[in-house]
Amino acid sequence: MSGTSASLIDLADTGSRLEGAPAEDILQWAISSVPRFAVSSSFGADSAVLLHLLAQIDPSVPVLFIDTGFHFPETIAYRHQIAELLGLIDVRDLRPDLSVAAQGRLHGGGLYVRDPDLCCAIRKVAPLDAALADFDGWASGLRREQTIDRADTPVIQLVRRGERELVKAAPLARWTGEDLTDYLRRHDLPRHPLADAGYPSIGCAPCTRPVATGDDPRAGRWAGQSKTECGIHLELPLIPAPGGEAS
Ligand code: SF4
Repeated sequence: MSGTSASLIDLADTGSRLEGAPAEDILQWAISSVPRFAVSSSFGADSAVLLHLLAQIDPSVPVLFIDTGFHFPETIAYRHQIAELLGLIDVRDLRPDLSVAAQGRLHGGGLYVRDPDLCCAIRKVAPLDAALADFDGWASGLRREQTIDRADTPVIQLVRRGERELVKAAPLARWTGEDLTDYLRRHDLPRHPLADAGYPSIGCAPCTRPVATGDDPRAGRWAGQSKTECGIHLELPLIPAPGGEAS
């Protein structure tokens, strides 16, 4: 994707135009406009929503799943269940260069406790960066209400990731948790099996705890640590979020 000022202006205009559009229109625009496009999914609590929208538009679009080696067995089972249920044709399991055992030999066991940023860099950020080398843009399930850091998430933006510029879409940016629940119910879609067992947000097993009813849904992620993001969404934005300034 070219980083010319013309493309910046086009994307800013498109982002403004699609700000209030239905999620399926945002995703449809991205799939049809960005030459090589993918969707990332954690196959977490409510991931079936974005993947169901994708399946209605084009089930052959690659789906990127970062298989860190630390997932709950239920997450791996759910990844296969949803792929089959929705007829997703190209789900790619992205794996780190280091196996869990090799990481332990190199950095010692329990890196996720001693240095979770390094652990996420090895097991999440690097595999996604490597996979995105084959794409011009991607969509994720980011939503504004999830965290303060995500509150300004644009539905469409241009980001710099390393040396490259990519289009990033967040079709569900404006959705609430109730919207997701309602969509899953209306389309009879299964949630992650742990979602109704106190896990409203699900990442790697060592870094995910159940939360009490009514608590912040992401309170169980890296509980007791200052960390709130794994790092895969911390790119440099090149066009402003609605009402904001570009970096
Ligand atoms: Fe490691 Fe935890 Fe990050 Fe997973 S979420 S990559 S276990 S620090």
